[in-house]
Amino acid sequence: MCTNPSAPAPTWTVGGITLHRIDETPLPPETGAWLMPDATTDVVTQQDWLRPHFADSAGIMHADSHSFAFTVDGLRVLVDTGIGNGKTRANPAFHNLRTGYLERLTDAGFPPETVDLVILTHLHADHIGWNTRAEGGAWVPTFPNARYLVSRTEWEFWAGCEMDDARRQMFEDSVYPVEKAGLLQLAEVPEEGAELAAGLRLLPTPGHTPGHIAVEVAGHGEAAVITGDCIHHPVQLAHPAIGSCVDIDPGQAEATRRTLFASLARTGTLMLGTHFAPPTAGRVRADGDAYRLTPVPPK
Ligand SMILES: [Zn+2]
Repeated sequence: MCTNPSAPAPTWTVGGITLHRIDETPLPPETGAWLMPDATTDVVTQQDWLRPHFADSAGIMHADSHSFAFTVDGLRVLVDTGIGNGKTRANPAFHNLRTGYLERLTDAGFPPETVDLVILTHLHADHIGWNTRAEGGAWVPTFPNARYLVSRTEWEFWAGCEMDDARRQMFEDSVYPVEKAGLLQLAEVPEEGAELAAGLRLLPTPGHTPGHIAVEVAGHGEAAVITGDCIHHPVQLAHPAIGSCVDIDPGQAEATRRTLFASLARTGTLMLGTHFAPPTAGRVRADGDAYRLTPVPPK
């Protein structure tokens, strides 16, 4: 992954909309095997198209944390906010990071105060971290002029959930400060999706979490989908039954993946993976009774 702060953010242009990948950090090599125990090194090495971008020759999967930023219909949008800096987390890969994420976001043309809309695909620690930043001993919203959008189903699920200490901590440092500042907005996302603006839709993609959403950007007959965590790694295209150990409803997560892959393969929509290592994007192609990803490098 490119972590050179002076390098421009990688971009893809779809339907006249330029999507910028804002890098946070590569995830440690053990992440994939922990997250998807059924994606063994044998399973991964059988798919030669995964190499060299998405896995190495030993079957170790590559994964990253990044966000996507773009302007659509005059709205300056950020999809997911990564792990964040300085957060106390049980997972050592997420604990007390010091990355240049915010500088990269600014350099890509999105200084925090100019962001209008933050879309959170779901409320897990590696998607909400930059919701807030430390200031004067408190956690304050990083994007003071933005609405932070979460699906109502997602919000109500966690509100009704008995949280353990780690999850409560995450809500206290990264979610509740946004709610208290009046910046949180809940989105109704029906089965057919929810249009937020011309060219911007939320797609219900439940299973990983109950209110998980993917984000579709479209124009001039072209479209792209930002996956969130309804898929973690391209190996799942070859094996849609392989889920992650943190999917809340594994059966629903698999059904969501199958529906999404079929749709993306049929329409030629560009898939932008929220945890996909560079080149991060690709087209889904039918391959026997499953799929594969043809990478589409950034411009
Ligand atoms: Zn994630």
